[in-house]
Amino acid sequence: MAKYFGTNGIRGTIGFVGPELALRAAQAIGAYFGKGKILVARDHRLTGELLRNAVISGLQSVGCEAIDLGIVSSPTAEFMLKKLKADGLIIITASHNPPEYNGLKVIDGKGVSVSRERGEEIEKLIGNVKLASWDAIKPVKKHENAVREHMDAMRTLLHPEKIAKRKPFIVLDLGNGTTATIAPQFFKELGCKILTINSHMDGHFPGRPSEPREENIQELIKMVKETKADCGIAWDGDGDRVVFVDEKGNFVVGDKVYALSVLLKLKEKKGDVLTTVATSKAVEDVASKFGCKTIYTKVGAPYMSEEMAKGKAVMCGEEVGGVCWPEISLAKDGIFAAAKIIEALCEKSLSEWMKEIPTYYNVKTRVECDEKGKKAILEGVRKFAKQKGYKTIDIDGVRITFDDSWVIVRASGTEPYIRIFGEAKSKDKAEALVKEYEKLAKSLI
Ligand code: MG
Repeated sequence: MAKYFGTNGIRGTIGFVGPELALRAAQAIGAYFGKGKILVARDHRLTGELLRNAVISGLQSVGCEAIDLGIVSSPTAEFMLKKLKADGLIIITASHNPPEYNGLKVIDGKGVSVSRERGEEIEKLIGNVKLASWDAIKPVKKHENAVREHMDAMRTLLHPEKIAKRKPFIVLDLGNGTTATIAPQFFKELGCKILTINSHMDGHFPGRPSEPREENIQELIKMVKETKADCGIAWDGDGDRVVFVDEKGNFVVGDKVYALSVLLKLKEKKGDVLTTVATSKAVEDVASKFGCKTIYTKVGAPYMSEEMAKGKAVMCGEEVGGVCWPEISLAKDGIFAAAKIIEALCEKSLSEWMKEIPTYYNVKTRVECDEKGKKAILEGVRKFAKQKGYKTIDIDGVRITFDDSWVIVRASGTEPYIRIFGEAKSKDKAEALVKEYEKLAKSLI
C-alpha cells in the first residue's frame, strides 16, 4: 500500500507534503525517470515556492537537469512535456483542493500520470538514491515561454476565423487559479468578447472554493444571465477541469461537457472513446450514435492516461469535467476543451447543443463501513449481479448496466465509505435504483 501516493500523486497539507518529503520524493522521482530532463511547474499556492525549491534541489542532487516552467496551469505544463521532449514532469499543485493543501502530480515522459501503483515503486526509492557527484550537478534552466507555446499550439487545432467572425461573449470564472495565466489572453486573441470574475491569482482563493461545482459558481451563473452572455466557463485551481453555464444560466455538469466534447470529436474523427466507470451513460449513448465504443477505466486521471497511451481511443474524459484531446497532450486540458466548445458555439447556442446530449438524472449516496465492510459489500453486490444475470463492469467497484439506467457501488480509497451512484432517465427511477442498492449494501455488513 502506497504511503504517500494517492490516486493522482502526493497530496496533503504542509504537515504532510512539506519540504522534506518534497525533496526526498523528487530525488526518488528523478531516479525513477532515469535522471534525465525533468520539468517542474507549480500553481500559485502560498506553499508553492517553498515546495518548488525543495523539488528542484531533490532533482539536482541526483543529477537531473531541472527545467523550471514557473507558475502555469497544469494543461500548459503537460503540453510542454511533449514539446520539450522531457523525461518527466512534476507539477506542484493541489488541483481543486482547499488553499491549505498542496501536492505533487507526477507525469512520465510519455505523458502518463503516475498512478498509486507506480507511486509505490517510486516510494521504494525514497531514501535509497545515489547522490550525483559534485561536478555532475546541473544548473536549473528557466523556460519562460510555456504559455505562449501552449496558446500557439491550441490555435493551430482550432478555426480561429470562425470564432473571430462570431465574436462570442463569454464570462470566465478563473476561481483565482492558474487559468489566469492563459485563459483571458487566449480567448481574447481568438476574438471572443470576455468578462472575467475571480480573475487574479490568489493562494487564499478568496472568490470561491476551487472545485467548480454548481453551488460554488453561483456568481458566474448570475453574471451570465445578467449580461446575456453566450456562456460562462469555470475551471478548477490548476485548470484541467472545466464546466460550463449555458446562455440561459443552466449549469452544464462535467460529464455533459465531456459528452459534448465526444460529439464534437466524433464529428471530426470517428474512434472509440475512454471514460471512467463513474461517468454518465450520456457519453456511451453519444459514442454509439457514431457506431463507436466506450472503453471504461478505473476512476482517476492516471488510469485514463495509461489507457490513452495505448493509442486505442481518440479521446478521454471523466465525470468531474476533465477532457483530454490527445492532439494537445494525454492530460485533461480544460483550456483546450473549453475552446473547442466555444468554436462549436459559432454554429448554435450551447443550450441547442445540449439538446443533442441525452438527459439522465443522477443520485448519489454513501454507506459508512470499515475496510472489511467494503470488501463484504463489493463481493456481495458482485455475487448478486451475477445471480441475476446483470451486465457488469467490475474494474473499479461494481457498475451494473441496465437498458436506460446504471448503478455503481465503489469503495472510497481514502474514507470509510462505500459510494453508490445511480443514473436513470427519471429522477424517481434513479432514486429507487440507488435506494435498492443502498439497502443491499447495508444488508451485507
Ligand atoms: Mg485539477
